[in-house]
Amino acid sequence: MTKVVYVNGTYRRYSDALIHAEDRGFQFGDAIYEVCEVRDRAVVDEDRHMARLGRSLDELGIPAPMSTGAWQRVIQETIRRNRVKNGIVYLQVSRGAGPRNFLFDGVETPPTVVCLSRPQSRAGQEAIAEKGISIQSMPDNRWGRCDIKTVMLLPASLAKEQAKTTGAQEAWFVGEDGKVREGGSSNAWIISKDNELITPKATNEILRGITRTTLIDLIERDGLTLVERGFTIEEAQAAREAFITSATNLVMPVVEIDGRPVGNGHPGSTSVRLRESFHEVAQMRHLPATATA
Ligand code: PMP
Repeated sequence: MTKVVYVNGTYRRYSDALIHAEDRGFQFGDAIYEVCEVRDRAVVDEDRHMARLGRSLDELGIPAPMSTGAWQRVIQETIRRNRVKNGIVYLQVSRGAGPRNFLFDGVETPPTVVCLSRPQSRAGQEAIAEKGISIQSMPDNRWGRCDIKTVMLLPASLAKEQAKTTGAQEAWFVGEDGKVREGGSSNAWIISKDNELITPKATNEILRGITRTTLIDLIERDGLTLVERGFTIEEAQAAREAFITSATNLVMPVVEIDGRPVGNGHPGSTSVRLRESFHEVAQMRHLPATATA
């Protein structure tokens, strides 16, 4: 099947899709993005993702390229054209293109907009979740505005590569205070022996994950105890359970941190239950019948 990508107002085959060589996303990382889960032809938590996209644009002073309704149509059409039932939809907006200039003066085009969608195997993800993942910690070397979802992902990419060399599937960034901030592309959680669900506060040092926010709704619905505070690697290793959250991983159990098992070294029961219940509280925006070709 030919894959199709939305670029600046038109749907193109990948081989025909072009971005300006002097796009500021390419030259300066001057771009923001979102990733939403697509599940049974529904976009998960679309409104929250679009609200965060709007905030990221505002924080960087990039003009909104289109209305919320227009975004919704682009998202649905991109998913439909790629026939994605389960997978992800990715949106990216850069400030635009123009002769290379640190200042914004040179921008000659409207913001560059890309939307793509690709399938992801649910069975594959569930197989990973059944085993759980390993974490490797490392010092946080990112900038001070990790609350903005920019494409400046090199530190995260390098961290995840380094984690991979140790056999881990995710990196946890640790601040100078010794507290875990978040993962390379996920939020970090532990469950204490007192059954408190602990995750760092959403400051400028971390991304306020949409999965994190929706999980908090689930925690409240189920009468569980949420504590927003930092924790050390030692505390996490001694915790009852640990897990990460992201739109692509949902609630993903962590079974090992820096080579030490968490709990009994298997996915914890609460993490598994939260993973199973997540979509009971998430917003599920189903594609219109005409859009489910
Ligand atoms: N933190 C970082 C650094 C991320 O890249 C991501 C995933 N984009 C998350 C947290 C999780 O965010 P979300 O739940 O919105 O996918």
